Amino acid sequence: MLLWSQDRDFEHIEEIIWVTTEEMMECRNQVFAKNLVFSEERKIMKNILLKDVNIFNGKDDKIEGNLSILIKDGKIAEISSKPAVPAGEIEEIDCKGMTVLPGLINVHAHLSLDAEVPFEESLEESTEMTLLKIVKNGRLTLEAGITTIRELGCRDHLDFAYREGVERGIVPGPRMLLSGKVITKTGGHGYFLGREADGEAEIMKAVREQVKAGADVVKVMSTGGVMTEGVEPGLALYTFEEVKAAADEAKRSRKLTASHAQGTEGIQNAVLAGIDTIEHGIYMTEEIIELMIERGTYWVPTLTPGERLTDPCATELIPEYAMEKANRVKPIHRENFAKFCHREGLKLGIGSDSGVPLVLHNDIVTEMEIFTEYGFSNFDVLKLTTYGNAELLQMQDKIGAIEVGMEADIIGVCGNPLESLSVLRKPNMVMKEGVIWYRSI
Ligand SMILES: [Zn+2]
Repeated sequence: MLLWSQDRDFEHIEEIIWVTTEEMMECRNQVFAKNLVFSEERKIMKNILLKDVNIFNGKDDKIEGNLSILIKDGKIAEISSKPAVPAGEIEEIDCKGMTVLPGLINVHAHLSLDAEVPFEESLEESTEMTLLKIVKNGRLTLEAGITTIRELGCRDHLDFAYREGVERGIVPGPRMLLSGKVITKTGGHGYFLGREADGEAEIMKAVREQVKAGADVVKVMSTGGVMTEGVEPGLALYTFEEVKAAADEAKRSRKLTASHAQGTEGIQNAVLAGIDTIEHGIYMTEEIIELMIERGTYWVPTLTPGERLTDPCATELIPEYAMEKANRVKPIHRENFAKFCHREGLKLGIGSDSGVPLVLHNDIVTEMEIFTEYGFSNFDVLKLTTYGNAELLQMQDKIGAIEVGMEADIIGVCGNPLESLSVLRKPNMVMKEGVIWYRSI
């Protein structure tokens, strides 16, 4: 049952008021109508001059106007009021009135989960159907100006096939850091996407399998969660030694590590084991926050699912056990985030958990807006979603800022994102690696 779609059926979307405002949809309709379709021509890298743009560079709390950006060989070659245009073919684009910023980064996504259909139904899909949906979800992601994602749990290693398709120019999609299958105990949280492994030796083997397949990040499930029947968010799934075995093995291959960790014991196990990013962190405590600050561990709270899963609309998409758990943990999550989110030295990441029912692949802005409810400024969250997330991914020398020498992952919007984050919901240009994939200018 397809209840509604993320980019086609605007009539239905209008009914779901928390997805968007009427004004936004009107603008999006216009944008999509003007968008050129993904074409062969689009895959060819050209030198491009973006003329007369306003720039938010990802780092500084200001927008600088009347500048031009020269993009050469997929990288930002010059930013000035009068760049020296090289001889040869160059596409000049007049960007008057447009603000450009680094492509947005979502550090918690699940491309193989379909936010649009009942959760249990989506798990029964064939592998082939899931791959088709991944292609759709990846396109939606890129089209929304999310030029990089960290995919934290995908069925059957389909993430690797999709990334290869994108890199070979077969299908559009964002830049991706991939985890492959999540590592979870037998019957543990997310087992339907994962590699079930019990005991240190088997967990090490499971990590090696993901690394062999091409993983950039290893994801281990330290606790139960909301969307799996029979597991409790507050309870640890693995022992400390088991989580440590996963973290150590990932580090031996120089891979990043992430842990789904909701209950206190599981979060503490993950932090002490040396995991790089704590996902969710619902039952966070004072003691663990201090430990995270000391160790430089990131907290990626993923607040959007709490909003979506407790919305009355969700009853049609999620089973009762998930609804019950979501309602139970949401206030605790919010309360603890409020309590600790401004601690000096705490590193935060912005990830939506897209793919969870009603958490759309083309929406990172909701997560950003929720952060502003806790006292973060628009600048704070813009920086977190660009340069900050690039640092989390240890890619800040390549992406997350508009500076000479960086990869040209650039999006353009009409309006000033420092004044209103909602302008990000309707990008009118999306460039990744110097190639314009979507534009309405
Ligand atoms: Zn997730």
